[in-house]
Amino acid sequence: MRLLWVFFAACAVTFAAGVWDENQTKAHQSGEFLRFGFYKLDGAVKGNTLLVVGGVHGDEPGGYFAPALLATHYRIKKGSLWIVPNLNFESIIRNRRGVFGDMNRKFAALKESDTDYETVQKIKEIIDDPQVKMVLNLHDGHGFYRERWENTIFNPKAWGQTLVIDQKTLELDSVPFGNMDELATKITENLNKRLKDDLHYFSVRNTETRNKDEAMRLSLTYYAVTHLKPAFGQETSKNINALAVKVEYHLRLIEEMMKLMDIEYERDFELNFKGIQKALNSYGKVWINDKMAFNLIDLRNVLRFIPLDKNKEDRFIFNHPLGAVKRREDRVDIYIGNQRVSSLYPQYFDQNCSINLVQVDVDGRTRRLNMGMTFAFADYFKVIPREDLRINVIGFSAEGVKNESGIKIAKKDLETRFSEDVGGKMYRVEFYRNEDFCGTMNARIK
Ligand SMILES: [Zn+2]
Repeated sequence: MRLLWVFFAACAVTFAAGVWDENQTKAHQSGEFLRFGFYKLDGAVKGNTLLVVGGVHGDEPGGYFAPALLATHYRIKKGSLWIVPNLNFESIIRNRRGVFGDMNRKFAALKESDTDYETVQKIKEIIDDPQVKMVLNLHDGHGFYRERWENTIFNPKAWGQTLVIDQKTLELDSVPFGNMDELATKITENLNKRLKDDLHYFSVRNTETRNKDEAMRLSLTYYAVTHLKPAFGQETSKNINALAVKVEYHLRLIEEMMKLMDIEYERDFELNFKGIQKALNSYGKVWINDKMAFNLIDLRNVLRFIPLDKNKEDRFIFNHPLGAVKRREDRVDIYIGNQRVSSLYPQYFDQNCSINLVQVDVDGRTRRLNMGMTFAFADYFKVIPREDLRINVIGFSAEGVKNESGIKIAKKDLETRFSEDVGGKMYRVEFYRNEDFCGTMNARIK
């Protein structure tokens, strides 16, 4: 798994690669408007390439959390899986269909002045890549599709629980997988054998775009089809409440498609409600300025006195594809998709101090640790004094002491209300050199 590139708004700062953990996928998002990430999962054995695009609509979380799991929890052994989990990232964070209008109606002609122009151009280029043999565009649609009108939820106009095709076939002689109707029928038949609820059954919906559906002629899938790439709109239902259920259907459809395309994969969680829920809850970490890291699981929803950059040029790196920050007037909000995980209220510092390998006595054993790391202690910890550094442990205070290095700090010395996490186990150890902020470590009670 690797992040090939993340493309940024012009005002964003550069991408920092491989600073913390070579093995983790990193997404670095900053700047005024967020741009999508592109993940290429290539198998050791060559084969077909499937492109999965999520999040064209920002208020359809099944459509972007499913590909986020693909990017981080799947491994491809044969063929390739290319993933754009968060096409309309700005709208995802704001939980709106399209902040700058409906992006899925911008694939025919589009003015260069349109804020979505660059995004649409980039994804078109990826679709056009000769390696791409199939395109899936993921949505959570309204209601449940039925051939006959039953009510406002179950009817022929509903998009929910469908595989949408623009036409039945695509130049069968020259285009592999051009038999779209047949493929969609096969996939939905297989999926319908293992539904959570009989009402959830999937249908193939052919919009017959060329002749009948003017609006769909402006869509991503129609762009793909007219460029001789078989494409499906994949819709779960907005009327299914549990995110994990929508994500399960999306992933099952994608896995069925991979089987048909002879793409071999592995996944590191069980494809059931519990397994998906657990994977969805693993928000990972955010690294800030290569100096500080927060575990996003169980993080308090408000954190105060966070040492950020005086010049407001902070760099945030997430290992979750949907991780992003929004700078507000008085704080920085941290998001995973449409979920606000925490708000950081800053205390501003110069950041011209860079240190590593500080010695910390952890339960009697001396360890050499870097900024951003977490260490666990059972009895106590003590930062070994260094002449140039001042240490401040958040949640600890001793009368008249300005520098807390060299002090044995036990669990009972820490005030729970200052912990980073809701559980009261994680505490921030801050390092300063004169007026400059150097970084933090996290001390975790075992
Ligand atoms: Zn949609």
